[in-house]
Amino acid sequence: MSSPSAEVVIIGAGIVGASVAYHLAARGCTDVLILEKANAPVTGSTAFSAGGVRHQFGQEVNIRLSKYSIERLKNFTDEIGGYADLRQSGYLFLLNDEDTWADYQQQARLQRSLGIQVELLGPQDVLKLVPGTRLDDIVGATFGVDDGFCNPHGIATGYLKRARELGVRMALSSPVTGAQVSGERVTAVETPEGWVNAGFVVNASGAWSGRLAAFFGIDLPVQPYRRNAYMTEAFPLFPQPIPLTFDVGSGFWMRKEQDRLLFGMANPDDPAGENLNVDWDWLPTVLDAGINRFPLLENAHLVKGHSWAGLYEISPDHMPILGRHPEMQNYVHASGFSGHGVMHSPATGLLIAEEIIDGRAHSINIDELRITRFRNSLTHTETNVF
Ligand SMILES: Cc1cc2nc3c(=O)[nH]c(=O)nc-3n(C[C@H](O)[C@H](O)[C@H](O)COP(=O)(O)OP(=O)(O)OC[C@H]3O[C@@H](n4cnc5c(N)ncnc54)[C@H](O)[C@@H]3O)c2cc1C
Repeated sequence: MSSPSAEVVIIGAGIVGASVAYHLAARGCTDVLILEKANAPVTGSTAFSAGGVRHQFGQEVNIRLSKYSIERLKNFTDEIGGYADLRQSGYLFLLNDEDTWADYQQQARLQRSLGIQVELLGPQDVLKLVPGTRLDDIVGATFGVDDGFCNPHGIATGYLKRARELGVRMALSSPVTGAQVSGERVTAVETPEGWVNAGFVVNASGAWSGRLAAFFGIDLPVQPYRRNAYMTEAFPLFPQPIPLTFDVGSGFWMRKEQDRLLFGMANPDDPAGENLNVDWDWLPTVLDAGINRFPLLENAHLVKGHSWAGLYEISPDHMPILGRHPEMQNYVHASGFSGHGVMHSPATGLLIAEEIIDGRAHSINIDELRITRFRNSLTHTETNVF
């Protein structure tokens, strides 16, 4: 019996693999097989995302990825089906030192030059958005009017459903465990069921993409890092809606999840790894930072069972790694989003489909996102990350 085959094999059924599959199929490339190691789709980082979407980045290419993606999410149900549930309640960054404030003002100028609506706020304006904020050391804030949050699971399953209607196949409980490479081409990938011949392979395996790339002999600098999201009981002291709010000095963030509060803060000492247990030892530090900036949080009650941890997929410059591998032209990178893969998934699907069908992504120039950038000293780093 001959091995199964597909023109494009996508590894990973998260939001990125789903978007790539849909965009390929929508352009007529339907001989696509998604291989997913779990026994259900959308169980990786996508399922643990906070769903934030924002235009406010420091690097132009990231702003362009967001601009395209958020526009698509506005009409997601009409265009794709599924359920993006985009809430454009804004994103607020609070700054408490002059140098960082100057950086954010500079970033806002860049964002505005690309047509993004971002406002510079004085401390008193912040109170209208987030009541009770402690302002004594705040020097300024930026507010992204069209930013907000969405439903990552609804988007991923929407893309998958439409892709499958168009002919895309998906195999669950099918971890890729090896690869066959001949000269400068991948010819097949290995699963427990046997080999699958592949015309192209897309690595959309998120936090596991570095490990996966090693099967192809590729050194992909993407590492998994745990991030915790803690949830409170109903919190009526903040009227709905408040923006997704970052206290930049501490890294504390929060947003409303219906009538509850969702919040978190990255632990810089948490080592790379695949630990998915909620870090309860870190919670007191997070709460201290939150209450310090938003004293009303003293009244919040945590719901342990509704808190979770998931993995960021971090690249050295906190920028995605996209596009064909230079020495293996039918292997395509789609990972390294460094915690922004949900908001950048619509643009990524479009661009990876172009990379495969047209030979090169063209709707947005992704040259500075190609893996070759790590061969020289880095020229761009995204600083607006948490
Ligand atoms: C707490 C938290 C908050 C976040 N908040 C935001 C946010 O506000 N906004 C935002 O944009 N992003 C956010 N993110 C990041 C976002 O979740 C990710 O960037 C995004 O989900 C990446 O999507 P993906 O499809 O690449 O990865 P995943 O969803 O992880 O999908 C990868 C898939 O690959 C599969 N896989 C792995 N190895 C193999 C293998 N060998 N063979 C077959 N399949 C394999 C996995 O099982 C998984 O299903 C957050 C993440 C966390 C953890």
